[in-house]
Order: sequence, then structure tokens, then C-alpha cells
Amino acid sequence: MTNSPAQTNLRNLSYVGMPLDRNSVLREDSQWMTSQYQSPQALFQPLYHHANLVSGQSASETPKAIYLKYSEIPPNFHQSCQLVYLGDLKGGGTNHPIFAIDLSVIPEETVNEWRNRLKVTSQFTDLRRMSAFLLQSEAAILGYARGLCFWHQNHLFCSRCGHTTVSTRGGHMRKCTNDTCAKEVYPRIDPAVIMLVELIDPTDGIEKCLLGRHKGLPKGIYSTLAGYVDQGESMEEAVAREVMEEAGLLIHNADYIASQPWPFPSALMIGFRAQTKEENITIALDELEDAQWFSADQIRQFGEHTDTNVEKALPRKDSIARTLIELWLQDKTSSLDLSHHSSTQ
Ligand SMILES: [Zn+2]
Repeated sequence: MTNSPAQTNLRNLSYVGMPLDRNSVLREDSQWMTSQYQSPQALFQPLYHHANLVSGQSASETPKAIYLKYSEIPPNFHQSCQLVYLGDLKGGGTNHPIFAIDLSVIPEETVNEWRNRLKVTSQFTDLRRMSAFLLQSEAAILGYARGLCFWHQNHLFCSRCGHTTVSTRGGHMRKCTNDTCAKEVYPRIDPAVIMLVELIDPTDGIEKCLLGRHKGLPKGIYSTLAGYVDQGESMEEAVAREVMEEAGLLIHNADYIASQPWPFPSALMIGFRAQTKEENITIALDELEDAQWFSADQIRQFGEHTDTNVEKALPRKDSIARTLIELWLQDKTSSLDLSHHSSTQ
């Protein structure tokens, strides 16, 4: 059975495709967790201030995630650094418990001295700078590690009483140390909707999609609209509100397409395609610099975000925004084929 291009696109989304068994029941058992930590098969992915340790010396070298044995990490790092059990990697008849270890509390000079003694050349690199070069499964693990380490760094104190919290259950829960409070907190994600809005004109059937330039996007990039889901709001309601707030358009339909973990720092991107019959865009200038309707042919002329001399560019390849746009372009090709239109360049 062959996959449609749409299925292939969705399957290839960055940061999905986790190869690890999370063992979410077993990891609650502290004895089992200790045995995994001390196992000779255990492997550790070090992080430093949200950057993952990978092989290679520069961003131009193809990076590969580095996993170290227990003995390759100094005892004082083990004692003072946040540890998170990510899950088990099975393969070749071996089971490797995989951990993330966040070295951010160690002075940079000490970390660099240790790193220079490792057998492989290594560097701490921001995942977004290298995700295009990584295997999908590797990017999924590194993103998961980054997201959990970020959560720990930001939940060191109880949000109810202000006492310190401690990590438990393999790093998947923190508990307040004040006995009268004892609040338990779990890793949180922030749901965000991201939507490609298409204009369906009933008179001439020309279809266009809305892309905008959010403030803060690198020069030239046009992307889909997006925003966080509010309290007391469904995802569909969030799509309608964001499109109205950012572009002044009333949508009449929104279909779910796919979702993507986005650990920068802790979002879950929930992708939609929405339709409107309204053409007049009213831009929210506090959020967007520009927003326009583009035909499929116009978007096909866009460059890559890495091109320095293009006027308009597509969003990064690791983003679900890019996937939503590519799926839309594929659909426009199909409909052109069916209706025997000739495309105008
Ligand atoms: Zn508390």
C-alpha cells in the first residue's frame, strides 16, 4: 500500500516519532527507577541551558546526539544535576534506559573541561539550529529531553506556598517539600492552535490562502496564523478567535489536520485548515506586520528562510506551519489537474 503525499508529509513532521517506550507506569516505582539509573545499559543525553550535546564542532557538520554511559559523567554531576528518565530504547536485543541530565547548575568552565576530555568532539547546540540534519526519531528524543529539563528549571518552587520542590517519579513529577502543602505538579504543555486560512470565492472559484508576517519572524518569512488556546475555550473556538483578532476575518469552518510537539519551550502545536468567504483583511498591527492572500503559484515562488536575497520566504522546514502550507499546495495541484486549468506563472 502506498502512502499519499499528505500522509507522508504528516508522518515526517519534526519532533514526532518518539522511538522510546516511556514506561509511564513502571517509572512511578522508585526502586525500579534506581535499577534503571544504575544499569550498565543506561545512557545519558547531557543538556546545558536548553542546548543538547551533539557530536561535531560546527553547525555545518552533520550533528548526532551524544549518549554517554554513567561512568563517563563525573560523580558530582550525577549528584547535583537534574535527571529525567525519558524511556527505554529497544533494539538489537538490548534495552537501553535513556536519561536526560541537565548540567546547567555546573559552572561553564568545568563543563567545558569535562567535555574536552570526552572521546568524541562535541558541542551544546540549540535543537532548532540542527533539527534539519537529525533523524526524525533523534530530534523527537532531543526535543522531549529539552522540554522536560526546561519544565524542571521553571518549577523549582511551589506555586502555592513558595517552598522548594523536589523531583520524583523519574523526573515526571515535582512535589512541594512543605508537608502541610505537599502540592504535586506535573510537566505542562501549552496548547497552541496554528491555522492555514483559505479563501473560497464562490464567483470565480479562485482559492488563496492567508499568510502573515508575525512581529519577530526573521526577515521575509510569511507563515500561518497561530495563537495559544485560552482558558474556557475549545481548539476550534481558539482558531476562530485568533483569525478574527489577527486578521479581522470570520471563518465558517475549521478542520483538524495534525499536531506537533514544539518544545521551544513547551507548546503543543495543533494544526487546522480553516475557510472564510471574507476577503478584506484587517491586520492587528500589535501582532502582525503584514498579512496577504496568496495563490498557490505565488507561494511556489517563495524562497527558503535561509535565502538572504529573497523578498518572501517559507517558514522553517521543521515547523507544522510549513507542513500546513505544503499540504495546501499539494491540494491545489490536484484540483488543477482535475479541472484542466493551466497554471499562470
Ligand atoms: Zn507548597
